[in-house]
Amino acid sequence: MDSFCPLCDSAKIYPVFDSLYRCRKCGCAFSGVSAPLAYDDDYFTAGYLKQYGRTYEDDFPQIYKTALVRMERIQKMSAYRKERILDIGCALGFFLKAALDRGFASVKGIEISAYASNYCAEKFGFDVLREDFEKIPNLGIHDAITAWYFIEHCCEPFKAVEKIFASLAENGVFAFSAPSVFGPMYGFHKNEWAALRPSDHRVDFTPGSARRMLKRAGFKKVKIYAAGFHPERVISDKRFFYKAFCVIYNLFAKLTGYSDTIEVYAAK
Ligand SMILES: [Zn+2]
Repeated sequence: MDSFCPLCDSAKIYPVFDSLYRCRKCGCAFSGVSAPLAYDDDYFTAGYLKQYGRTYEDDFPQIYKTALVRMERIQKMSAYRKERILDIGCALGFFLKAALDRGFASVKGIEISAYASNYCAEKFGFDVLREDFEKIPNLGIHDAITAWYFIEHCCEPFKAVEKIFASLAENGVFAFSAPSVFGPMYGFHKNEWAALRPSDHRVDFTPGSARRMLKRAGFKKVKIYAAGFHPERVISDKRFFYKAFCVIYNLFAKLTGYSDTIEVYAAK
């Protein structure tokens, strides 16, 4: 088992399920036995289809719409130069397409899947490095670096964030999304959460643990958003006061980042 928290290095950890632990100091949850999957063609096609009822490529309109909202949030973070952006785990390049459409001159990606990295090059002409992020010694310097649902897969997530910090220009912005245990699934359906938790995830954040990790890496400003809205995971939508509950839930989520997934924005 692990003896230290992979985000804050604290030894104050305790088991919650078989190989899952929580950190008493920063609040994150982590697996002691996570192992990366083979992110092959199937991950974006048949595997995605099985989970979501459509392929990743078919999901372009929704993913692109979300990407534009994320771009807006990145713009708000700091007065950084809008030239160079790097998307780690860029999948089929839909976020990079949004970055290009929003004025970035140089868009680059890192993607381990052959199918996805080839798609980026052929469909959009993007410069995508097909490599395991943790094995790349030098990322170059960028004005913005993004990693959507990527950091939770890293064996050493804090090292990954340190590497990202070192690869950002002054005032540069790092944005990522990740699963969080400060949300209704962990809070109200713990056994189901543990059963559904992907085995390739090393860490689940909380807003507090993400903030602490980013400050530890050197980021000056951090902003966190709830990425999902699921009041029905707390009480049944059949209850007569459900609508009133939604209003309170929404306010609470906005103030605290309460959600099973979070979006995190940090400025250097
Ligand atoms: Zn910790």
